[in-house]
This record gives sequence, C-alpha cells and structure tokens, in this order.
Amino acid sequence: MLKVEGLKAGYGAINILWDLSFEVHEGEIVAILGSNGAGKTTMVRAITGMVRPSAGSVNFNGEELAKKSSRYILDKGIVQVPEGRQIFTDMTVLENLEMGAFSKPTKAAFPKNLETAYRRFPKLKERAKQAAGTLSGGEQQMLAVARALIGMPKLLILDEPSLGLAPNIVDDILDVASSMAKNDGIAVLLVEQDITKALACADRGYVIENGRIALQGSARELSTNEHVKKAYLGI
Ligand code: ATP
Repeated sequence: MLKVEGLKAGYGAINILWDLSFEVHEGEIVAILGSNGAGKTTMVRAITGMVRPSAGSVNFNGEELAKKSSRYILDKGIVQVPEGRQIFTDMTVLENLEMGAFSKPTKAAFPKNLETAYRRFPKLKERAKQAAGTLSGGEQQMLAVARALIGMPKLLILDEPSLGLAPNIVDDILDVASSMAKNDGIAVLLVEQDITKALACADRGYVIENGRIALQGSARELSTNEHVKKAYLGI
C-alpha cells in the first residue's frame, strides 16, 4: 500500500531524514519508534506533503506522491492525526467532526461516518454541542482520531497519540486503531515514543535513530531485541 524508498527531507539547509525506506501493507499496523528529535514527525510531514522531500519516493497504491500537495495526498486517503491533536478549540465537537469531511465523497458519507465515529467514541456524541476546548485531553485525542475517520482514510497516521494521556485512554485509542486495521482493512502508521504500548498493538515496526532506520522487524522481534530493550525499554 505505502512504499517509501530513499526518503531524504529536512528544513532549509538542515537535513533530518537520510535514506529512509519502509513499507506498510493493507490492514497492517506499523509502528515508527524513536526518541525525541529522531525525525518521526518530519517523516510524517514528508509523507503527507507538508515538507517536500529532497530525494526519494513515496509510493501509495502504485502512485508517486513525493512531489504532490498535501491536499492531493489527503484526497488519496492518507489522513493523519497530528502530534498535539490540532483540534479547533472554539468550535463544537460536531463542527470539528464536520471539518474532517473535506472532499465530495467524505461529505456525502458524513452522516454514516458520523454514526460510526459516535459508536466508537460514545463520549463525543454526548458532548457534540460542547466547545472542543472544554474536553479533557483524552477526549480531545478521541476527537482528533474521530475527525480523521470522517476523512475515510486508507492509511491513518497517528503521530504520538499517547502524548500526555493516561495509560487507559491510550489503550482505548489504540484499540480503535486495531479494530480499524483488522475489521476495515485500514493501514495504520503509528508513530510513538511509548515503545511498549506501540509494540503491543503493532504488527511490525521500524526504529528511527538520527533520521535513519536503525532497526526493523516484527513487533515480537523488536520487543525482544537487546538494543531496543536497553536503549528504549530500560531493561
Ligand atoms: P518528538 O518525538 O520529540 O516529536 P521527532 O522524532 O518527531 O521528535 P522531529 O519533530 O521530526 O522529531 O524533529 C527532528 C529534528 O528536526 C529536530 O532536531 C527538530 O529540532 C528539527 N525540526 C523539527 N521541525 C523543524 C522546523 N520546522 N524547522 C527546523 N527544524 C525542525
């Protein structure tokens, strides 16, 4: 589904990502792991067209997206839940969800997708008329995920969903991601610093260090890898 090869990207004269290659298949949850500043968010930006790669390929279902606009990439079905959620705090929950329907097909399917989103996150239905800024951190993250679902993703990118949230809320959010991958065939790219939680939910993973893929393997292989254990799990 997504095949990234030799991706190089950065900001102005500063290069951050070096020769990054990885794949995500349909219905799969792939974790991108790494510590602060490793380049994970830059990688998300390069895939979603927010940072223009200086080299390499981002192939999605056979189409090259590396030089396309973020709107074009969104229309192709790559939808992200950005780090820090970026919900519209002065707008209601429902208005935020409406913002997720950006194209003709997503607008047409909005009533049905809204029902599905409410079924997955019943709290959001209860709070539909409430300003999004008054939601708790966990509810705001749920809103950000629900808004992405309204956009009918083929590939959903979750950038640090665990940030600042209680462990049980993170579990709820990752459960929804698992159910989407297993039941709806949506591919999920899970970018996380919480390596234990990410590997518990993912099928495979890649570890990024200094803008390069340092390790890759199944979730089981990575969670038992000596380097991962020592450098990231503290065991
Ligand atoms: P974190 O987990 O802390 O979010 P990350 O792995 O997502 O880290 P990035 O946000 O991709 O890392 O940052 C990688 C490097 O790129 C960092 O050194 C950061 O300072 C730099 N960087 C990020 N955004 C910009 C920007 N807009 N302009 C210049 N440098 C940036």
